[in-house]
Amino acid sequence: MAEVLVYVDHVDGAVRKPTLELLTLARRIGEPVAVALGNGAADTAAVLAEHGAVKVLTHDASEYADYLVVPKVDALQAAHEAVSPAAVLVPSSAEGKEIAARLALRIGSGIITDAVDLEAGGEGPVATQSVFAASFTTKSRVSKGTPVITVKPNSAAVEAAPAAGTVEALAVTFSEKATGTKVTARTPRESTGRPELTEAAIVVSGGRGVNGAENFSIIEALADSLGAAVGASRAAVDAGWYPHTNQVGQTGKSVSPQLYIANGISGAIQHRAGMQTSKTIVAVNKDAEAPIFELVDYGVVGDLFDVVPQLTDEIKAR
Ligand code: FAD
Repeated sequence: MAEVLVYVDHVDGAVRKPTLELLTLARRIGEPVAVALGNGAADTAAVLAEHGAVKVLTHDASEYADYLVVPKVDALQAAHEAVSPAAVLVPSSAEGKEIAARLALRIGSGIITDAVDLEAGGEGPVATQSVFAASFTTKSRVSKGTPVITVKPNSAAVEAAPAAGTVEALAVTFSEKATGTKVTARTPRESTGRPELTEAAIVVSGGRGVNGAENFSIIEALADSLGAAVGASRAAVDAGWYPHTNQVGQTGKSVSPQLYIANGISGAIQHRAGMQTSKTIVAVNKDAEAPIFELVDYGVVGDLFDVVPQLTDEIKAR
């Protein structure tokens, strides 16, 4: 069976969930070979093996410490040469997409970004994408070279599938460009303790109906009762009620959680573009004619200031 390279997104050996999702998808098209780089790379092996990695290629060097992408591209290229895989899968983060694009260019391959599903095909893996503000679903495959595919978080359920997970050291020679850039300063963002918006299994969002920055506390309280991330519509962000980093939509982030709860959001096409692929959608809106109700699984017609605190209390009581 053909091998499929999976780029491992981890923090000091703790593997992030999108990588485990990639392993699930990789098993549909071949045998996953994971590539783990940087501090704690070898510590990722056990969890990767539990989720189907037949082999884990590891490499650590100081070059990886500063979040620069070129050393990682060098390593992934070395892994590509060593394995000759049927495909290379990378999580669709900002970093993942840059790594994938640079790798595809280096190895002369085609790239598919932001896939939401993956299946085996006679002429290579077939990727599903949601395009044009989520108005269409397309299926495509790479017709030149080894397909390099980035996959959006929450596109597949994580499934355990124990495999050998043999650890092997990857031989990497860094290119000149790998050391050509230096990080001069780093300012860590204050942590909210909530999950990352694009990776969260549950997202609770607020829109213009929240009517003020101070009222976002009720959206946050509901999010915290569910262990969710907080999102916002552009109207709420433009009004200065919530940070731009939390905007969901065409010009914000694209999320695909198991559960998306939209509060006081009308459901404009540009907002839908960023959340339409959520598995279950719930909306609270006082206007029964609001377009958001066209795509919900469950809708509550009511005032969010009545409904949301009651929902939070009920969830906390369980
Ligand atoms: P509104 O459309 O004003 O809706 C507010 C809703 O709240 C209404 O349905 C109302 O009934 C309800 N409401 C009011 N009070 C209450 C209450 N007390 N209880 C319950 N419900 C209540 N938008 C995005 O979100 N993300 C994007 O990335 C984005 N990109 C854009 C890109 C472009 C190029 C353009 C042109 C627009 C973009 N927009 C984006 C803006 C988008 O068109 C809408 O204007 C925006 O999504 C509206 O936000 P909203 O639903 O919060 O506000």
